[in-house]
Amino acid sequence: MIDVAAIRSQFPILQREIYGKPLIYLDNAATSQHPQCVIDRIAHSYCRVNANVHRGVHTLSQEATEAHENTRKKVQRYINARYSHEIIFTRGTTEAINLVAHSFGQAHLNDGDEVILTVMEHHSDIVPWQLLQQRKDIKLRVVPIDERGELNMEIFRSLFNEKTRLVCVMQASNVLGTINPIDEIIAYAHTHNVPVLVDGAQGIPHLSVDVQALDADFYVFSAHKVYGPTGIGVLYGKEKWLDSMPPYQGGGEMIAQVSFERTTFNELPYKFEAGTPDYVGSAAFATALDWVESVGLEAMQLHEEALLHYATTQLMTIDGIKIYGTAQRKTPVISFLVDNIHHYDMGMLLDKLGIAVRTGHHCAQPLMHALGIEGTVRASFAVYNTFEEIDAFIAAVKRVSNMLR
Ligand code: PMP
Repeated sequence: MIDVAAIRSQFPILQREIYGKPLIYLDNAATSQHPQCVIDRIAHSYCRVNANVHRGVHTLSQEATEAHENTRKKVQRYINARYSHEIIFTRGTTEAINLVAHSFGQAHLNDGDEVILTVMEHHSDIVPWQLLQQRKDIKLRVVPIDERGELNMEIFRSLFNEKTRLVCVMQASNVLGTINPIDEIIAYAHTHNVPVLVDGAQGIPHLSVDVQALDADFYVFSAHKVYGPTGIGVLYGKEKWLDSMPPYQGGGEMIAQVSFERTTFNELPYKFEAGTPDYVGSAAFATALDWVESVGLEAMQLHEEALLHYATTQLMTIDGIKIYGTAQRKTPVISFLVDNIHHYDMGMLLDKLGIAVRTGHHCAQPLMHALGIEGTVRASFAVYNTFEEIDAFIAAVKRVSNMLR
């Protein structure tokens, strides 16, 4: 059991009021809030340590470098990567996928090749592949979902052929909450010698991840969804793939030797890390992962599952409600609409009651199209949310629904 009150007291933002009402923050799938220790670590970096990393012999630079590289090792342990140089720091999930699309695409995809995606992918796992299509004549094959919001695995398997070069799949849907069977997907793709990129943006905050046990070829995520700072994320890639891929951006740090005649590139992971990295963010990122471990991911999961179950059951008592995503295994995310009330109107009025939810297409327009809607209201929970907050949220949805009907 976790002590939610004690956890909440560590999050200064949860003391805020919105329109005179206590903030009820249910937009955690977009970004989570930060415990004081993470905020303090950012301040500590600027107050005591700040210096550019990797290039300095002076004490500050060495301390900043040590903190930055310690985070790489922390992330390596957190997702159980084999080597720390398989952890590439990026700006987030989006940049990590763009990196793979660009560099893996450059090295391994040729005209006529095919990439398998799912209809529930976030735009950040669709558009980079479409950008690649401007350079290479590749084909995107899309796995559909069933009425519960689960992937149709039969169709998934049927999409493989001798041209299939990569599978890209989200671990969990930011809209439906569906937790996809990535272990099964990876195992099947590997029987065809096809590597798999897992978008872990919605997985890492809720699920324990072991990239070696999964045998994932690429796994990407953002720190800001797991109680860490914005502006930093991770591309995990198996060494053999990363070694086979050309640099994504050129600049400082990623080179070995530069001359106007010939430039050679640095080794992993620096080959993919051009320019000054977000070393303030990386230091606080480690603090965030330490914090999650100190609370305990399993205890968090139990609490979040209880919140999900309670909120779903309560929401279903509302007349005219439709929940999008009723998969057997879900992250604590609920997308819904009430009758024909516009999601935007619902979100605006909930805000007036102090409740932060997300509305719209959630960067998943192809999924919205498949569902035949333009958007949803989405409530998503984190470890600091309470059952009392859900009661207030349900009462507010009822009130707003009655007003707008
Ligand atoms: N993939 C998924 C599943 C997401 O939920 C998000 C964030 N909404 C992203 C990718 C993009 O993450 P970021 O904006 O941090 O790069």
